[in-house]
Amino acid sequence: MTAERIDGKAFAALLRERVGALATQFEHKAGRKAGLAVVLVGEDPASQVYVRSKHKATVAAGMESFEHRLPADTSEADLLALVEQLNADEAVDGILVQLPLPGHLDDQAVIAAISPDKDVDGFHVTNAGRLAVGQSGFVPCTPLGCMMLLTDRLGDLSGLEAVVIGRSNIVGKPMAQLLLDANATVTIAHSRTKDLPGVVKRADIVVAAVGRAEMVKAEWLKDGATVIDVGINRLPPAEGEEKGRLVGDVDYAGAEGVASAITPVPGGVGPMTIAVLLRNTLVAAYRNAGLAVPEIL
Ligand code: NAD
Repeated sequence: MTAERIDGKAFAALLRERVGALATQFEHKAGRKAGLAVVLVGEDPASQVYVRSKHKATVAAGMESFEHRLPADTSEADLLALVEQLNADEAVDGILVQLPLPGHLDDQAVIAAISPDKDVDGFHVTNAGRLAVGQSGFVPCTPLGCMMLLTDRLGDLSGLEAVVIGRSNIVGKPMAQLLLDANATVTIAHSRTKDLPGVVKRADIVVAAVGRAEMVKAEWLKDGATVIDVGINRLPPAEGEEKGRLVGDVDYAGAEGVASAITPVPGGVGPMTIAVLLRNTLVAAYRNAGLAVPEIL
């Protein structure tokens, strides 16, 4: 048996198309475009790449992109003042502060200053709380994207055994909440879990969000499991390579022989994150404009 490759790139392209079409409808109804403000402090090269691709994707989806690039030595007071200004700006539906911030700035304090109704990353404690108690808010983009891939493939997740490896606030924990909400039986495994292979063995659904190259082995998986690999790890360059290959947290080549479906790295979960960010921004726009959010979003 060879597992089906879950094509996150194709799914994300469809989602972006749908968001684009609905963004045009929003503009007709609201008399303005939906808007996303992205704040980048400093010159971290990876963050610059992310911010550039978010900007491009936002514009391509027919939404307004407001970029704020601040120098690395920006004070917390200045950054908080900008966030306040964006909170009050009616053209801005979503606010994203690119993390990590330079060391002298407190990530949590800055996230706390974002209006929860513009927190399209879903990192504000109010949104974490809403997710925990089953109220509608904003869910972090990566786990929501994983959930879309899972429900697209499996439909009803009721009663399925799901194991999430990793307990971060941005991936593992919200992923587990979403699976629980969908009536899966959820286990969260982490760095202190005893017998991780044994825990993974019972899972119909495995979500790996660890950040360790090819840690999850084929022998750990139950026959026919559905595997979502969130990890992005760069291997050391092999001879003759300038850069090492990107791999996930799961040994893809081995897992293909055991799982029924698996996301590749790259091309699986990765492309979903920006697509879901655009989706969250458009949801925020509908809500902020007092319009009903279209169900297909
Ligand atoms: P993190 O470092 O915050 O969390 C990693 C988690 O893995 C921790 O909860 C830890 O307990 C657990 N862990 C560490 N070692 C372990 C072990 N040996 N066994 C079991 N669990 C272990 O990372 P994160 O932010 O949640 O990201 C996880 C991975 O997902 C990273 O590779 C990151 O690059 C990737 N990621 C991808 C996307 C995307 O595709 N768009 C988005 C976010 C994160």
